[in-house]
Amino acid sequence: MISVDEALRHVLDHSFPLASTSLELSTALGCTLAADVTSDIDSPPHDKSLVDGYALRTSDLGGANTQFKVLEEVTAGEMPSCKVTSDSVTRIMTGAAIPEGADAVVMLEETAARDAGTVLIRRSALPAGSNIMRRGTSLCRGDTVLQAGVTIRPLEVGLLSEVGRSQVLVQEVPRVAIVATGNELVPSDHRPESGQIRNSNGPMLTALVRSSGARAVDLGIGRDDHDILAQLVTEGLQSDVLILSGGVSAGVLDLVPDVLKATGVKQVFHKVNLKPGKPLWFGVSSPQGQTLVFGLPGNPVSGFVCFELFVRPALDRLAGRTASTAVRRRFRLACDHTHRGARPTYHPAAWEESVDDQPATAKPLAWRGSADLRSLTACNCLLVLPSGDYTLGAGQWVDGLVI
Ligand code: AMP
Ligand code: MG
Repeated sequence: MISVDEALRHVLDHSFPLASTSLELSTALGCTLAADVTSDIDSPPHDKSLVDGYALRTSDLGGANTQFKVLEEVTAGEMPSCKVTSDSVTRIMTGAAIPEGADAVVMLEETAARDAGTVLIRRSALPAGSNIMRRGTSLCRGDTVLQAGVTIRPLEVGLLSEVGRSQVLVQEVPRVAIVATGNELVPSDHRPESGQIRNSNGPMLTALVRSSGARAVDLGIGRDDHDILAQLVTEGLQSDVLILSGGVSAGVLDLVPDVLKATGVKQVFHKVNLKPGKPLWFGVSSPQGQTLVFGLPGNPVSGFVCFELFVRPALDRLAGRTASTAVRRRFRLACDHTHRGARPTYHPAAWEESVDDQPATAKPLAWRGSADLRSLTACNCLLVLPSGDYTLGAGQWVDGLVI
């Protein structure tokens, strides 16, 4: 059986960024930039005032309460027409261009207007440059302001607007088809009859796909029947990724590997040395890896863990993201924890930041097996516990995957 690291390497070796496409900025939130973005302007475009006040020459402040002649008033959007000299100042508003000759702006609150034509400056001294933002401090024309691979968040929307990009080149969003397999499954709006359970994996996987920024296509429930599943797989292969839930273990109705083989999907690996999630199946629909196919175990916790470990990184790759949305970090155990088992385990846990700059702590959840989705709702990380029988003491370091 291959390790988690080997399995992930195989998955990533078959995952390539999708094509790029041009989108209106207003619809590009959450997309990945497909090309570097350079600025076509300096920002600010001129030396500008950071406050409402008076622009002056600092060398002319000879003591408190110096009186100056007011040359003119400039507001944001206007350009000054007079040069500031030794006995004159310009009344200036935030964002307006600094007049020639001035080297600082004194705040309005530190002045007293005498009449329309004169002002008293109460400051006795002011360092040169005070309250002025120099032209190009934020960005200069030709600067690369965003790099390909970043996710467009509201802040990036603002910056892209500042540099005049109303159209942006982004990676296409991966399309992910989802099929939940199992004769026992009924949709969540049905009351299960004897022997039946509700399909929780389909909606959960749809939500997981959406949480990673991809587009989910829910193909519903597939009965454990070769022809029905083959038809659903054929439909799912129209997408960039196909996720099947259930039917990949050793049971008599675990038909998914055979169906995938029959529909031309090439197996890359089946079974991974991990708990939960051992039965994971992964393959590609063509040698070029046109559609990535994940057969996730039917147990909800196993499916969830496999999604976080393998599907999410693949979707990041397809979306052209440079930073993975999966975050690894170290925690101190909040309590003693005993591990038993021959497989590396991804144990659901709840982590929290500590006060007083202490390391974050994580508390393993009482986990009642791979079908126990309820315990998982308290979970915000998976602790990575190596195989073996051992007890870790409270305070010991453990690796975790933040989810
Ligand atoms: P399987 O991998 O098909 O053998 O399923 C393993 C276990 O997960 C069984 O107990 C199934 O009933 C359960 N299971 C399978 N699919 C789902 C699903 N979509 N939602 C909830 N539980 C499921
Ligand atoms: Mg099944």
